[in-house]
Amino acid sequence: LTELDIARLREQFPVLNQQVNGRDLVYLDNAATSQKPRAVINALVDYYTGYNANIHRGIHTLAEKATKTYEQTRETAKQFINAATTEEIIFTRGVTEGINLVASSYAKVFLTKGDEIIISGLEHHSNIVPWQLACGSNGASIKVIPVKDNGTLDIEAYKALLSNKTKLVAVNHASNSLGTINPVKEIIDLAHEVGAVVLIDGAQSGAHLPIDVQALDCDFYCLSAHKMYGPTGTGILYGKKALLEKMPPYHGGGEMIKEVSFEKTTYNDLPYKFEAGTPNIADVVAFHYAMTFILETGREVMAAHEHDLLVYATERISQLKGVKIYGTGAEKLSVVSFTVDGIHPFDIGQMLDARGIAVRTGHHCTQPLMDRFKIEGTVRASFAIYNTRKEVDQLVEALERVINFMK
Ligand code: PMP
Repeated sequence: LTELDIARLREQFPVLNQQVNGRDLVYLDNAATSQKPRAVINALVDYYTGYNANIHRGIHTLAEKATKTYEQTRETAKQFINAATTEEIIFTRGVTEGINLVASSYAKVFLTKGDEIIISGLEHHSNIVPWQLACGSNGASIKVIPVKDNGTLDIEAYKALLSNKTKLVAVNHASNSLGTINPVKEIIDLAHEVGAVVLIDGAQSGAHLPIDVQALDCDFYCLSAHKMYGPTGTGILYGKKALLEKMPPYHGGGEMIKEVSFEKTTYNDLPYKFEAGTPNIADVVAFHYAMTFILETGREVMAAHEHDLLVYATERISQLKGVKIYGTGAEKLSVVSFTVDGIHPFDIGQMLDARGIAVRTGHHCTQPLMDRFKIEGTVRASFAIYNTRKEVDQLVEALERVINFMK
């Protein structure tokens, strides 16, 4: 992409065009949430101003339009991850809810004492705690794939953990804290050899990596729309149809039933069995435009631009005095996570904010990973398609000032 291409693309993101603390905003917190293009914002406004209605039940014109538009997103999502059918696409609040759904209605139900769940040392709390909750009630236990010094997973150790006790493996496609891209295909194939099912947390991959659930052969895959240029409050859980069919419902209520009496209830077909109550219609509708934005911009074009920023930022930041970058050994998403000797990440974050630069500081919801590296937290700059080399320069310049000021 040329500078002009990026400038044009930035025009689609109104939030980027503002000053923060007297300077042009430099938004480098994309791993937490990405900004939204006008098409997504407009879709929300259009829905509420044009055809707000509850879906699936109504026969009036607005309800039909809302239903059709909502279901269009399911079709787009199916194509986006190459699922076999829309019955395998369940709308959730995001990755956290997707994982909790599988933990509650698969792990808690089908795993028993002696069974094992394998997760990794790179996981976000949302891919740790739901499994702990499930194991608390079914007596199964959790094993953890260790993280190597370079921020990659120890695959030999993973092989040693696998056994006929392993019933479920849950890992992220890419780490939010370090950017490490995990060898998920290999992880999935090895798990299947011992008969375990695999859930992939795609929170970080959604906007950055191609996703083909059939080629991966994963059993579950979770996405959050808000990290993919889409709205907050929605996302998808992909599950293989045969598994979803044998799983009990997660939530009970309207829409997920066929017939209800006080004695007995029969459940709706997939995917509605897992979508109780009035869903987040507006955000699901807008999610279509986020996926379309990614597809039209082109995932390869995006990946190439972000990789350029990653290489450039890594090179420049690593030259700063006292800086240590974590997770350098792997194929990575455009995330640079670092500490600076003698300066607390929080102080760095505050001083960068004073210059209009938004980064994330802290443990990034991965406390066990921080413990692994014996640190409290890092400063994390994470890039998206609208970021520029100039913004990397602004970050580096500001970091130089912070380091000189604190020394
Ligand atoms: N997993 C990873 C790797 C993440 O980065 C995040 C969000 N930071 C989550 C899970 C949780 O996603 P959400 O908060 O959108 O449910």
